[in-house]
Amino acid sequence: MSRYISDILRDFVANRASYKCEYCRVDAQNSFFAFHIDHIISVKHGGKTSPENLAYSCQICNLNKGSDIATFLGNTDNLVRFFNPRTDIWNEHFSIDEIGLLEAITDIGAATIKILDLNHPESIIERQEMIRLGLFF
Ligand SMILES: [Zn+2]
Repeated sequence: MSRYISDILRDFVANRASYKCEYCRVDAQNSFFAFHIDHIISVKHGGKTSPENLAYSCQICNLNKGSDIATFLGNTDNLVRFFNPRTDIWNEHFSIDEIGLLEAITDIGAATIKILDLNHPESIIERQEMIRLGLFF
């Protein structure tokens, strides 16, 4: 399976996401870094380069996620998958407080916050700016 993502597919994924990271919700236009197209299920795990397996992602989320798809929470052997922007609803797994800090509602949210580092200091600053400008939803 090819990892190549055409400009048309890249534009489709970015537009579908309203140019916001589908994990941490940072806006591409207010971000310090260029955004990536993420394979939700990585190619090495059999994920396809097709719209239903692609997500618009900021650099911090994409680099922290890498090819991972799940993690262990706490001291248990409970393997918890990450949030899937194509099949999960963001507001069911995450909430945001008034200073831009994301909080997990579910184990899927907690696993995603942990490994993707969704509360990276730069991400919090960018979300604070979005809240201030009324752009966060
Ligand atoms: Zn992000």
